[in-house]
Amino acid sequence: MNPFFGNNKNMSKKFETNAIRTQLNRTEHLEHSVPLYLTSSFIFEDAEDMRASFAEEKERNIYSRYSNPNSSEFIEKVCQMEGAEAGFAFASGMAAVFSTLAALLESGDHILSARSIFGSTHSLLNNFFPKWNISHSYFKIDDLDAIEALIKPKTKLIYAESPTNPGVDILDLDALGKIAKKNNLILVIDNCFASPYLQQPIKFGADLVIHSGTKLMDGQGRVLAGITVGGAELIDKVYRFSRITGPALSPFNAWVLSKSLETLALRVDRHCDNALKLAEFLEGHSKVNWVKYPFLKSHPKYKIAKKQMKAGGCVVAFEVKGGLKAGQQFFDAIKLLSLSANLGDSRSIVTHPASTTHSKLSVEERAESGITDGMVRVSVGLEHIDDIIADISQALN
Ligand SMILES: *Cc1c(COP(=O)(O)O)cnc(C)c1O
Repeated sequence: MNPFFGNNKNMSKKFETNAIRTQLNRTEHLEHSVPLYLTSSFIFEDAEDMRASFAEEKERNIYSRYSNPNSSEFIEKVCQMEGAEAGFAFASGMAAVFSTLAALLESGDHILSARSIFGSTHSLLNNFFPKWNISHSYFKIDDLDAIEALIKPKTKLIYAESPTNPGVDILDLDALGKIAKKNNLILVIDNCFASPYLQQPIKFGADLVIHSGTKLMDGQGRVLAGITVGGAELIDKVYRFSRITGPALSPFNAWVLSKSLETLALRVDRHCDNALKLAEFLEGHSKVNWVKYPFLKSHPKYKIAKKQMKAGGCVVAFEVKGGLKAGQQFFDAIKLLSLSANLGDSRSIVTHPASTTHSKLSVEERAESGITDGMVRVSVGLEHIDDIIADISQALN
């Protein structure tokens, strides 16, 4: 056990209890709720302490770019939730994605990535990594048999998300885990859409799990954050790179997130109940072409979703009949829900991926990712479900 967590005796194996009771050691004030350690550095007792600390002979905080008590608590909680050995917390989800990949890859390496990934991750692979001679190939998540043909001598890792953004497609994590293991590739899963409460990719063979803490983890649209967790050896590489390059999470945001995780299970349960009800309402609606939600029986990967997830998540995707024009009319008619780019917030949000998060992709790339002009993505929040359905219903009509 990490020396900063000596208080956590007799820990339960239950998710909810760990999320609440994993806590930093108390100070001499015996505070009940963990304080905010808003400090950039930490002091040394004497010359020997200073030397030993920098030599990493003891586990302690030196400088908040390396570690901070609030970040450590946030990381410890997520490690328990994901079944991981270690982690590092970042200022945003994209800082986590970039730093993790940059820490593990070198010039000449090749990434095998799912085609349907977060828009900024897509841009990172397409527009920036090639500058450092790091190349990639994309695979379709419903054709895993084709993956092995794409493996090159310098392929180092597989990168994927499930459920995907914004199409809520499901990737068979167990099958992908087996392919990664067989070919000795590092499997990195962005688990942001599920949250650690609904799905733990390490169980299915992932080596590293990335989250944007900005989404369901915070859950109230307040802070940006990211985290990578996984095996101690790989995380050590991520840590070495990150403590030098400086993408660390701020203590304040870590404190907010660690508190948010106390209610993650409760919130995500309600997000999922509301999302399933909305998906059922939209299915068969006369103004809607199709609806996609992992826990709808009509979802093409319903069985795999049931196998690897506890519930379907907070995002419902659907297509308004009538293409771009009808889509725009729908957004203009929305009254209660927010038109915003975030997701996993307590406030329900509607977005138009084709003109926002995925606008940087070409029309062909969007089509391959299943993004059509009339597609709407709803991040179903925690308002009363009757009000969420009423707003979407009046906007469709
Ligand atoms: C939002 C998001 C990210 C990026 O996270 P930020 O905190 O916005 O940097 C990465 N992956 C997925 C799936 C996301 O939804």
